[in-house]
Amino acid sequence: MTETNRLNTYEGGCHCGAVRFRVLANPEQDQVSDCNCSMCRKKGFLHLIVPPEQFTLVSGEEMLTTYTFNTGVAKHTFCKICGIHGFYRPRSHPHMIDVNVRCLDENVLSQFRVVPFDGVNWEENIHSLRSAEEVIEGQGVKGKG
Ligand SMILES: [Zn+2]
Repeated sequence: MTETNRLNTYEGGCHCGAVRFRVLANPEQDQVSDCNCSMCRKKGFLHLIVPPEQFTLVSGEEMLTTYTFNTGVAKHTFCKICGIHGFYRPRSHPHMIDVNVRCLDENVLSQFRVVPFDGVNWEENIHSLRSAEEVIEGQGVKGKG
C-alpha cells in the first residue's frame, strides 16, 4: 500500500459539472499513462489508476452512461449531458478506477510524470502497467477494450 499520509486530494469532474469526483494520489509515485490506442488517442485520456478506496464519486452517478467495445471488460463511463470521460474501470485493472488527469480541476498535470503507453500493441505491453499477479489473472482476455 502507498503511505496514505503522502496522498494529495484532487477534485475533478466532467465539463457541465453534473459528474464530480474526488481522488487521492501521490504525484511522486503515481505515474500517468498516455495511451495511443484507438480509444484513448481520440479521447485524450491521461490515465491515473488508483484503488477504489482512493476514489469517491461525489455527484452525478445517475448522469453516467457506459460505452463498451471488444472484450467489454473496460467500462467506459462518461457524462450523458456533456460527453466527457472523467474516469472509468479499465480493462488493464478492472478492480481499479482510472481517472482522466485532464478532468481534474486546475492544471495539476505538471505535478505528475507522464509515461507513454503503447496501447496499439496492448497484449505485448500490458505487463508494463501490471503486477505479475494481475497478468496471470487477466490471461485469456484477447483484443483491446
Ligand atoms: Zn457533464
